[in-house]
Amino acid sequence: MGLLFAAFREGSCSLCGSTQNLTGEHKIKASALRSEFGPDSMMIGRFGEPNENMKLAQGVKSEIFHFASQLCAPCNNSRSQAADREFDRFHTIARDLMAKGEDPNHVFNNARYAVTSEAYLNVFRYFAKLLCCHLADVGAPRPVHMSRFALGQVNTNCVWLDVNHDWTYQQTSVEFGPHKYAAHGGLAIYGDAKTGGANAFHSTLTVGSLRYVFYSRLNWFERLELRLAHRNFYEFCREQVQKSIDRPLSQEDYLRLGLTAKQPTEK
Ligand SMILES: [Zn+2]
Repeated sequence: MGLLFAAFREGSCSLCGSTQNLTGEHKIKASALRSEFGPDSMMIGRFGEPNENMKLAQGVKSEIFHFASQLCAPCNNSRSQAADREFDRFHTIARDLMAKGEDPNHVFNNARYAVTSEAYLNVFRYFAKLLCCHLADVGAPRPVHMSRFALGQVNTNCVWLDVNHDWTYQQTSVEFGPHKYAAHGGLAIYGDAKTGGANAFHSTLTVGSLRYVFYSRLNWFERLELRLAHRNFYEFCREQVQKSIDRPLSQEDYLRLGLTAKQPTEK
């Protein structure tokens, strides 16, 4: 047991560690999928994989969209409800800006999202929850601050977010024109150039042509605790970093993963 990370436990909540009343959490919110696809059927797969590997989702609530890791019912419902609802509002505003041909990142200019407002924090809390779930899916120890932030128990934001045009969508729309599309970027790890230890965790969420790029940087104490107290995960991160050194990401991979995110307040 560490101070800044709690050891990973199979069958426990990705946010609070409870083993009671576990429920599934969507990688892409059902409401966002509904806004994009309506009643249309959805095929799920990865770009570059053969078509026969594609799966048909039976509606926006399909378990196929769930993280493998789970959340307890209180964390998935009452404790994260404000953040979930705020994401819906934020997404609607960003989507409208995009439809009008404006920069979707201007969603942060909306008075509702003044930097110190509860609504602003709740948007970031939603993305903190997604990062915690992505981390649990790879068996990472639970980040105590980020999970408490996601649940509204602390107010210091540890997530950076950029809202932009999805690069993959832009490429495919050249060929297919406007089309319905949603994706998540899995978990990407930023590694220290010298040690290979994790410095930050990153992901993306795309609905239509609108992409959210988000990541959380580890502070010095968190990096130290991972190295000393969570050795298996520390080595897992080093292996992933070494793989990317042996086979560097292409420019296309960088663009696809949105690896240029900046904090909106740094504009
Ligand atoms: Zn919980």
